Amino acid sequence: MSDFNLQPAKDKIIYADNAATTSVAPAVLESMLPFLTKRFGNASSIYSLGVQSREAVEKSRNTIARCLNAEPSEIYFTSGGTESDNWAIRSAFKINLNKKHAVSSKIEHHAVLHSFKALEKEGLRVSYLGVDSNGLVDVKEFSQTVREDTSFASIMMANNEIGTIEPVKELSVICKEHGVLFHTDAVQAVGHVKVDVKELGVDMLSFSAHKFHGPKGIGGIFIRKGINLLPFMEGGAQENKMRAGTENVAGIVGMAKALEIATQNMTSNNKKVTQMRNHLIKSLLGIDRSRLNGDPVIRLPGNANFCFEGIEGESLILNLDLNGICASSGSACTSGSLEPSHVLLALGISHSVAHGSLRITLCEENTLQEVNFIIQKVKETVEKLRLMSPVWEKIKTMESAGFG
Ligand SMILES: *Cc1c(COP(=O)(O)O)cnc(C)c1O
Repeated sequence: MSDFNLQPAKDKIIYADNAATTSVAPAVLESMLPFLTKRFGNASSIYSLGVQSREAVEKSRNTIARCLNAEPSEIYFTSGGTESDNWAIRSAFKINLNKKHAVSSKIEHHAVLHSFKALEKEGLRVSYLGVDSNGLVDVKEFSQTVREDTSFASIMMANNEIGTIEPVKELSVICKEHGVLFHTDAVQAVGHVKVDVKELGVDMLSFSAHKFHGPKGIGGIFIRKGINLLPFMEGGAQENKMRAGTENVAGIVGMAKALEIATQNMTSNNKKVTQMRNHLIKSLLGIDRSRLNGDPVIRLPGNANFCFEGIEGESLILNLDLNGICASSGSACTSGSLEPSHVLLALGISHSVAHGSLRITLCEENTLQEVNFIIQKVKETVEKLRLMSPVWEKIKTMESAGFG
């Protein structure tokens, strides 16, 4: 029995918010269970119960390293994407205090943006690059922004709201030429598109298990050999004295299993997910005064992000929820605030249009039948909301007067 007053689950939930989090795959749960029950030993204990945990942790590290083409010693476990981003950015600042400039973008996750904001109070100056209307950072502009006193840069690999995939490889070449450390938040990319740290040439790369069918509260960071970051947590000698705290053995095992499965099935999953997503995009762009946000081609397979003029995204989400559909408007972190998404605004979309946004993020567990149901319900709901919307009425009046 659960201590929580969980309402009975709806008969049928259509989960289409995989950029917020994903379900734990059954094989992942199965791999974790022994380490939550009989094999509960502390990985630092020297008797065999502990040694078994240590072996599981190191085997998982090897698996993750293999999936990312890293060395096992370059993989550190953290509590998730947020911690990895905080670690990379704070530490990159502190190891090179002679240079007080960094480069990032306007469309980063808040884990990155707010880390930078905190460091600005400590004297770091940050250039936040704008993006084009598809959400792409300009490589040339990036290159021109790097200067004598630039110590590091952080540009995400794939955006969590609009799915645009950034030219990380080109950016890291520029960083290398100028002796600038380069971190990428790859939380949306790992497990979804190919991530090869050697090919990308990045120095640090963040990832998080719950974005690829692993458990919540566990993630990691790749830190290239030879880069002497500072420890993020002080305490015991875990993680090569870089991240103290008793290892989350079950979480680590589950994350490795999830990444292994995602990597094995990536090609077939992406084919299926891309097909469903393209069908969704084509159908929903049939709605009057709708637009797709993010690059039409250079985007994550599961991501579709729209704006529908004349409606409120929040109302759309709540109406979809009544039909058992889980989707999102803006990012989970900004919802609840009245400000529209900083990512949509960076694309040059007006405040009023940005308010009418819908993010649908699919995974391989979704079916075409579900996608068709989503299409039907979004169309119905947008129509319904527009009938009640004074903003929509105004748009239509302007349109008929020839100002559309
Ligand atoms: C989810 C997400 C994070 C935060 O990861 P957590 O594991 O939830 O802390 C950071 N960056 C991006 C791009 C994300 O999508």
